[in-house]
Amino acid sequence: MYTDRPCLPQIRRRFSAQNEKVIELFEQTQSSTHKLQRNRGGFVWTLNAEEFCEAFYTWAEACQTELPTDDENQKQWRKEFADHWSFIALAIHKSCLLYRLIYAREPLRTEMCPVHKGKWSGCVWEKLECGCQFGSNVTGWLRKD
Ligand SMILES: [Zn+2]
Repeated sequence: MYTDRPCLPQIRRRFSAQNEKVIELFEQTQSSTHKLQRNRGGFVWTLNAEEFCEAFYTWAEACQTELPTDDENQKQWRKEFADHWSFIALAIHKSCLLYRLIYAREPLRTEMCPVHKGKWSGCVWEKLECGCQFGSNVTGWLRKD
């Protein structure tokens, strides 16, 4: 399920023109969750949200994994990455906005709720009149539709 909405994460891998035949064969056999598209003269793979998230976390873990071949600069870089990653990973995990962008495929809400004024205000299970909820989350921002 692919959409051109720019808020969706995508992993893109370029293929050269020589590989076009291989790509066509693979395209015929690929699962419905993978899409191969032409983009700016090349080919790109588009991952679904779950695949992207898995790749993203795999990348972050690999960045933090020390190798026997690492020199002191690389070890220091991995340590700094890990220090920042723990902060970012928590922000990702807690973000209602990121969840809405990726899994609900919402566009970024840009109109501030007059009541909650752009501030996430917890979870409320009854429907509020202001219109800024996403499920039980009071986002502080109004939906576009
Ligand atoms: Zn509100």
